[in-house]
Amino acid sequence: MTPSRTDFHMTGTTRRPEFMLILGSSLTVIAILAIVTFLLIREHANAMQSATRSATNIVQLIDADVLRNVELYDLSLQGLIAAAQRDDLKQVSPEIRHLVLFDRSSTARFKGDLLLLDRYGNVIADSSLVEPKPGNFADRDYFLAHAFNSDTGMFISRPFKPRCECSDSNQWRISFSRRISSPAGDFLGVAVASMRLAYFDELFNSLNIGTDSTLNVLDKDGIMLAQKPMLENDSIGKNYGSRPNVIRIMREGSGSFSSVSSMDQRERLYTFSRVGNLPLTVSVALSMDEVFAAWKRTAYVISGATGVLCIGLMWLTLLLCRELRLRQHAESELAQLAATDSLTGVANRRTLDQVLQREWARAQRSGKPMSVLMIDADHFKAFNDRHGHQRGDDALRILAKVINENIRRPGDLAARYGGEEFSTVLPETDTAGALRIAENIRTAVERLPPFENDESPMTVSIGLSTSTGHPAQSLENLLYTADKALYQAKRAGRNRVISAQA
Ligand code: GH3
Ligand code: MG
Ligand code: MG
Repeated sequence: MTPSRTDFHMTGTTRRPEFMLILGSSLTVIAILAIVTFLLIREHANAMQSATRSATNIVQLIDADVLRNVELYDLSLQGLIAAAQRDDLKQVSPEIRHLVLFDRSSTARFKGDLLLLDRYGNVIADSSLVEPKPGNFADRDYFLAHAFNSDTGMFISRPFKPRCECSDSNQWRISFSRRISSPAGDFLGVAVASMRLAYFDELFNSLNIGTDSTLNVLDKDGIMLAQKPMLENDSIGKNYGSRPNVIRIMREGSGSFSSVSSMDQRERLYTFSRVGNLPLTVSVALSMDEVFAAWKRTAYVISGATGVLCIGLMWLTLLLCRELRLRQHAESELAQLAATDSLTGVANRRTLDQVLQREWARAQRSGKPMSVLMIDADHFKAFNDRHGHQRGDDALRILAKVINENIRRPGDLAARYGGEEFSTVLPETDTAGALRIAENIRTAVERLPPFENDESPMTVSIGLSTSTGHPAQSLENLLYTADKALYQAKRAGRNRVISAQA
């Protein structure tokens, strides 16, 4: 089919709705992803916050219990010291003396023996026996601490196992001790009470912190006094003071941070606090996996649902774009069909009228010339008679092609006016220019190879009319003049161009 000049108004705008649709969907997807990401990040922070809060509560609970317990021990020690310093106690029987000495000693659970040591570390009174078993504890850390320092206050020992052959000799203990001083400040001995570390086990057992998390009690040097559950065998009594997490816990005193455990390489949330003024630190290490387990489940579900939603949205968008494209294609084909002459492929009469109106208005606005050619095949009735109607149609197609090939400007239009008559609109073209084009068309038709050895070649007569862009002129007059010029060309013998001024 001859290339048509009627598709000039179809291009340029067709891609825009698709682009807007894809842009809108992409922005929606980005917005959905941003909102979901924001919510998940916020929920992550909330999970962390609530874990820290509950860990802090547990730490405070342990703190309070340990503090109360230690206070009981201290009261017992102070009672023992006060009683031991009474002079009148030397005269009474051992039973009475035992009663008086240990009168104020409390009956705290997990409490071991309460001992009174003289300045050499020898046992001089034992809460469990009226006649104390001989023994010397001068090598113990607490004895040395009090012997060489008068203001140690209450001393908490390192964990130890008792030396006795008793049934619980395998159980770890710590001791609380106080110095006994003369009024002049001389060292007279030590009052010491021991406590089984099983106390912490029982305390920890009453708290539910999850399976992968640990509770720890450390002394001031980082020695482990209690741990539940045990991450390493025989961690009790071991010094962890050089581990980075313990160093940080000791340095900060109380607070919270997350870090990888040096014991099992798992990430944990450490929340810790010093127990009152005591050289003890309680820490809760919650497993990050447990802290974020619920969040992770939610995150998986929400991410999955969001992913499906976004993919679905984009898929629908692409589907819609395809439909839109198909529709636009169909529409443009329809428009093309509606604007084109089906036989020759050039613009039809309807398009010609529209373009004439538009170009006429433009010429009026700009004051520029505009030309119209009326082209009519000569003796076409006879041509049809010689070759048949079918061949006549072929000849009209060839004629349309020749006309189309001779107009080159984008604004120019070739149209089938009706029958064997064509028309061209030549905007911004004066008479000289239009004459050149008309002459080109005429000679090109004349030079066409003879149709089926036809003796008389095909020729056209062309009537040309130019408007000068003067406001007084009319489109009807322009067309009328062109028609008149064509009539004159016919009258003058055909195969020629006649120009007339509108
Ligand atoms: P003139 O030089 O004076 O224009 O002579 P003419 O025979 O071309 O003019 P006329 O108006 O007498 O006849 C026009 C002919 O064009 C009539 C018809 O046979 C032919 N014609 C019109 N439309 C078509 C068409 O679509 N196909 C074919 N094959 N012939 C057509
Ligand atoms: Mg004719
Ligand atoms: Mg005619």
